[in-house]
Amino acid sequence: MTLDQIRGQDRVIERLSAALARNRLPHGLIFGGPPGVGKRTTALAIAMAQLCADEPGRGCGRCLECSQVAAGTHPDLFIEDLAAARRERPAASTLSIDQIRRLRSQLALTPARGRAKVGIIEPAERLTADAQNALLKTLEEPPGHATLLLVTTAPRELLATIRSRAQTWSFGPLPDPIMKELLVEGGCAPDSASQTVRFAEGSLERAREMLDEDAVAAATALEEQLENIERTGIPDLLDLAAELAGARGAGRRDRQTAHLTAMQLWGRRRLRAAAETHSSDPGPASRATLLHARRRLGLIHATSRALERNANIELAWDRLLLELRTPREIGG
Ligand SMILES: [Zn+2]
Repeated sequence: MTLDQIRGQDRVIERLSAALARNRLPHGLIFGGPPGVGKRTTALAIAMAQLCADEPGRGCGRCLECSQVAAGTHPDLFIEDLAAARRERPAASTLSIDQIRRLRSQLALTPARGRAKVGIIEPAERLTADAQNALLKTLEEPPGHATLLLVTTAPRELLATIRSRAQTWSFGPLPDPIMKELLVEGGCAPDSASQTVRFAEGSLERAREMLDEDAVAAATALEEQLENIERTGIPDLLDLAAELAGARGAGRRDRQTAHLTAMQLWGRRRLRAAAETHSSDPGPASRATLLHARRRLGLIHATSRALERNANIELAWDRLLLELRTPREIGG
């Protein structure tokens, strides 16, 4: 995909294209932002722009160079990611200093073809401290033909020395209409795309995961149950808690995470709605609703943290649902 085909990141793409057109792209770039919003695609599009034979500085998407960039096989493109790490260490969860040393020596050589070399590191927050230190020198004195792109969901976890030697570009969540378009173009039915977008928070990756796991129906059902929670009797509520806790066994933890994510989204939506009502109609009643929404979201976050610390799953859900059921205090 070329730069001008990337959707939902207009500001970043416009500024990157302008920098490329003036040949002013910095040698070191950090692409930061949530997962599944186009950071790696943009990094590959930059590689196309740098290596394309037909439309240098833009990328045509069709020539041999562009096709090889898209396939990850271009001799002047070097990708160090977890897949590369796992070719050497099957259980790897970090990017090693050996990977960075290899990348450094590859970037130092003159380009095999054309005029540039591009290195992509992802997820950069998984670089070990040693690996980051090994990267510093390349960022300080980059070979003239080299562009180094660090793709990360957590730019703040990079060493300050890395951040100060590269230019950070922030990618935001994808706008809902664009997410929907992309899902529909990927073969998803429009209704199902609309439903999924509501839970995906601007991340195409998350939307696709939800579709793969058939998780949208479950999230929608849970949301409906939460909307009615104050009118739900205790026995039904405890049944729901047991259902959410699920059976012991493989995948239990992932299911907990999915339920909690759906609940957090619901809590945030309710909080946003309450904040809007309160700002247009301030008064004790809307203030009480706002505080109530804030308290509920706090309870959901606290449960999420408790489960991360291996709290008793059944008790955690019982307690959370009972507390969410407590009506807001009148005028409080
Ligand atoms: Zn091309």
